[in-house]
Amino acid sequence: MKVVIIGAGPGGYVCAIRCAQLGMDVTIVEKYNSLGGTCLNVGCIPSKALLDSSEHFYQATHQFSTHGIEVGKPTIDFSKMIGRKSEVINQNTKGIEFLMKKNKIVVIQGVASFLSNQKLKIHKTDDSIVELEFDKCIIATGSKPITPPSFQYNKDRIITSTEALSLKELPKEMLIVGAGVIGLEMGSVYARLGTKVTVLEYMDRLLPGMDFDCAKELQKTLKAIGIEFLLGKSVQSVEQIKQKVKLIYKSKDAEAMTNIEADYCLIAIGRRAFTDSLNIEATSIAKDEKGRITVNSNCETAEKNIFAIGDVIHGPMLAHKAEEEGVFVAEYIAGQKPALNHHLIPGVVYTWPEVASVGYTEEHLKEKSIKYKIGKFPFKALGRARASMDLDGFVKILADANTDEVLGVHIIGARAADLIMEAAVAMEFKATAEDISRICHPHPTFSEGIKEAALDATGKRAIHM
Ligand code: FAD
Ligand code: NAD
Repeated sequence: MKVVIIGAGPGGYVCAIRCAQLGMDVTIVEKYNSLGGTCLNVGCIPSKALLDSSEHFYQATHQFSTHGIEVGKPTIDFSKMIGRKSEVINQNTKGIEFLMKKNKIVVIQGVASFLSNQKLKIHKTDDSIVELEFDKCIIATGSKPITPPSFQYNKDRIITSTEALSLKELPKEMLIVGAGVIGLEMGSVYARLGTKVTVLEYMDRLLPGMDFDCAKELQKTLKAIGIEFLLGKSVQSVEQIKQKVKLIYKSKDAEAMTNIEADYCLIAIGRRAFTDSLNIEATSIAKDEKGRITVNSNCETAEKNIFAIGDVIHGPMLAHKAEEEGVFVAEYIAGQKPALNHHLIPGVVYTWPEVASVGYTEEHLKEKSIKYKIGKFPFKALGRARASMDLDGFVKILADANTDEVLGVHIIGARAADLIMEAAVAMEFKATAEDISRICHPHPTFSEGIKEAALDATGKRAIHM
């Protein structure tokens, strides 16, 4: 079977590998000369590289001496920091090239567009054009930042996350529009390095959609590293005047406009599905009101031989979601009966402390009129957290009031990103809070916070609280 995949991000390249493993003849088309998509080139990996570097600097300046370590006054070689990030990207994208070769996947560099529901035109990077017929095609073209015209995005001082990951100088002041995942992760990077960061957010809280208590706790800790929050503010416009940016916002329920200035403005107000240049009009594929490709629960479009996965369809814009859909589609095409539980896709914010969630929030449960009980345990009561002085945060478990089944877990604290998987596994197997509470957890670890929260949910049995 001849399969063509458009886009070599985590959705596309993972799908390609699984299709090849299942014996298909696979070609992947990618418009950039570097594989890995947003995630490897301008997303997950570079942002985490800078989060790690900036966290080291912050620890050296603020925490080492508490541990009895004196290193003098640390300084920043910003171009070296950015260079290390680029090297991390390079190693990762080379790894994907190796995997393509190993799995005998044909890689074509160029922009793919549909000629019909069985044929693509590829405008190759060397300017030549080829046509490619397929039995099955998978669209994995991802997403791009939303940049309204009034925000005058110019890649110079008015930037998106893409440019914020490769700046040439350390900004003195940065305005960030949006207290979502990107705003808070990139805001953390620059605030830790000494930039005066101000985040403007339309809602009255950080991280809309995630657990409210976690968001409140995160706001407190991010304020402590110097980030200023202007909440309930709707940003109207941004313009660059010489080497400064001028931003105009208004409070949600007021008419008056306020100006604010800084060196840089990062626009982080969400991403849109990217279908430009696909010419899907040559097929009967439909898009929804947000421009995302419409698919059914098997990721099938209106054309039965064309599928779509990842950021370009509905659902959270996350690399692991794109990967799972890639595997799902490959196995579905091969005639298997794969399953993917979209409800249990964990979400993580890699600030410090980290925030991680899986399943329902309290807001969801209230909307659905499901009665629930809460088990909560603070990190400051954990021996491991005391040893490392990572005392901020808590584990919150939401369990069904009648059956005790775990319905949602929300963690803010050190290593939350890794801890959340215990909850996801438990929930996949429909564990109750009591099930978790009766499993022996190693001491001293942060995972004891999950056990204690589970004990708290089942009859207030927490031991260390
Ligand atoms: P993409 O990774 O966007 O890949 C799509 C690919 O298709 C691109 O390479 C593009 O060039 C190519 N393409 C598009 N159109 C064509 C065409 N016509 N012809 C040929 N090629 C084409 N997610 C997480 O899970 N964890 C994180 O920590 C995380 N951090 C992030 C940090 C930032 C700053 C950003 C911006 C995103 C982050 N994300 C994170 C989100 C994650 O990057 C995306 O969810 C993920 O990359 C989506 O994968 P995808 O395969 O659907 O699309
Ligand atoms: P987001 O949707 O997470 O947050 C955007 C924020 O901007 C919202 O809080 C919204 O209320 C606010 N906003 C919108 N318009 C505004 C205006 N005019 N004025 C003030 N505030 C405004 O979007 P994002 O942070 O850009 O991230 C995009 C996607 O990238 C997310 O869907 C996320 O899944 C993905 N991502 C994931 C990770 C991760 O998994 N750790 C990291 C980065 C990005």
